[in-house]
Amino acid sequence: MRVTIFGSGYVGLVTGTCLADVGNDVLCVDVDARKIELLKQGVVPIHEPGLAEMVTRNVEAGRLQFTTDTVLGVNYGEIQCIAVGTPPDEDGSADLQYVLQVATTIGQHMDSYKLIMDKSTVPVGTASTVRHTVQQVLDQRGVNYQFDVVSNPEFLKEGAAIDDFMKPDRIVIGIEAEHSYPEELMRELYSPFNRNHDKLITMDIRSAELTKYAANAMLATKISFMNEIATIAERVGADIEQVRIGIGSDPRIGFHFIYPGIGYGGSCFPKDVQALKRTAQQLGLTPKVLEAVEAINYQQRSLFFEKIQQHFENNLQGRRFALWGLTFKPNTDDMRDAPSRTLMELLWQHGATVQVYDPKGMAETKRIYGERADLILCDKPETALHAADALIIATEWRVFRSPNFNLIKEMLKNPVIFDGRNIYEPQRMKKLGFTYYAIGRGDSLQTV
Ligand code: NAD
Repeated sequence: MRVTIFGSGYVGLVTGTCLADVGNDVLCVDVDARKIELLKQGVVPIHEPGLAEMVTRNVEAGRLQFTTDTVLGVNYGEIQCIAVGTPPDEDGSADLQYVLQVATTIGQHMDSYKLIMDKSTVPVGTASTVRHTVQQVLDQRGVNYQFDVVSNPEFLKEGAAIDDFMKPDRIVIGIEAEHSYPEELMRELYSPFNRNHDKLITMDIRSAELTKYAANAMLATKISFMNEIATIAERVGADIEQVRIGIGSDPRIGFHFIYPGIGYGGSCFPKDVQALKRTAQQLGLTPKVLEAVEAINYQQRSLFFEKIQQHFENNLQGRRFALWGLTFKPNTDDMRDAPSRTLMELLWQHGATVQVYDPKGMAETKRIYGERADLILCDKPETALHAADALIIATEWRVFRSPNFNLIKEMLKNPVIFDGRNIYEPQRMKKLGFTYYAIGRGDSLQTV
C-alpha cells in the first residue's frame, strides 16, 4: 500500500518506518526542513531504541522516503495519515492548527479518493472538523472527490515505540462511513500487526477520539493517586514501596503505573489531562478527578524541591547539585515537561548551580537552555558529582541503578542523595553512610 504520513516526530516517524518495514511504500512529510534534511542524510533526529537501524534499512530498500513537499505528499498515498503535534493552546485545550493545516493541504491538492487517518491525539469532534475543512476546500475548488476520515489514536510509548507499534495491545479505529471501504483499508494496513489474534477494535469516531484521552487520563490518575498515598505514607511512617507491592498484587489493581515519584511529564500526559479537563469545562462540567490528578502531579515536584530546601535550611545560594536524569522518562531524549526541568529552574531561582548528566538528554538540554554559568553539562555521571553538595535523581535510567556508592561518597561534598524515583533501598543507603531522601518511604528512612 502507498501511505503518506504528515508529521515526522515521535509518532509519525515510528508509524511510517514500521509500516515500511512490513512492505508498504511510505512517504513521510514534515514542514520542518531541518528534520527532513537530517532524515534524508540518514540521521534520525530523535532517540528511540531500534529506530535508526530500521529507518536505514527501509530507506535503502526504497520503501521509506522523506519530503517537505506537501503536494507530493497528498498525491502519493491513498491513505493520508495525520501525525502532527497537538500542543496545548493558551487555555489548555488542544491546539488544532497543525491538524487543520494538513486537512486544508489535502483538500487543496487531492485529485482522487483519499482515506484520511487521524493519529494525532485530538478532542472529540475533530474528525468532523477535518471532514468539513477538506469539503470546504474542495467546494472552493469546485471539485468533488470522495474521501473518508477515520480516527486511529496511537498508544505507543516513547522508549518502546517500535515494539508497541509492531505488537500492539489494541488497534482502535473510529469509523463512520456509509460504505465498508475505509474499514477494509484499515484492516489491510494493520493486518501484519494483527496476526496473533484480532486486536482491531472498531467503534464510532467520537468514542475512538475519547478513548485516547481516557487511556492517558487513567494512567496519569494511577500515578497521581500513588503519589498522594506516598505523601500520606511519609507522614504516617509507612513505606510506600511496601504498600505498592501490597496493592499491586491484587490483579484488579496490578503493578503497572503505580510507582511513586516526582510525577509524570512528557509530551502526552500533561497536555492530554489538561485538554480533557478543558473539554469537560467547556461542557459546563467540573472534572474533579482530572483537576486533582493535575494538581497532585505538580505539587509532587514542589514537595520534592522543598525536601532539598529544608535539608539545606532554606539556603541554596551558591550551592552545587549533581543532577542525574533529565529526560521525562528513561530510553528517550524527550524533555517536554520533564520534572527535571522544574527542578533545575527552581534550583537556579534559588541561586544554585546544577551539574547534569543524562544518557540521551544532553543535546536537548543544551538546545533548551543554551550556555549558562549555572548549568554544567557533564559527559559522565561521575563528573557531575564533583564537589557537589548533594546528588539528585530525576529519571530512573538503568545506568543509575547500581552505581559505585563509595565513589559517589568520595566525590560529593556531602553524602546526601535526593532520589525522586525511589531506585535505592533506604536502609542500605543509611548503612553506606548517606543521608537519603526518597518519596513516601516514611520510617524506613529512619530505622536501620
Ligand atoms: P512531534 O512534535 O514529535 O512531531 C510532530 C511533527 O509534526 C513535527 O515534526 C512538526 O514539524 C510536524 N508538523 C507540524 N505541522 C505539520 C504540517 N502541516 N505538515 C507536516 N508536518 C507538520 O509530536 P509527536 O510526539 O509525534 O506527537 C504527534 C501526535 O501524536 C500528538 O497529537 C501527540 O499527542 C500524539 N501522540 C504522541 C505520543 C508520544 O509518545 N509522543 C504517543 C501517542 C500519541
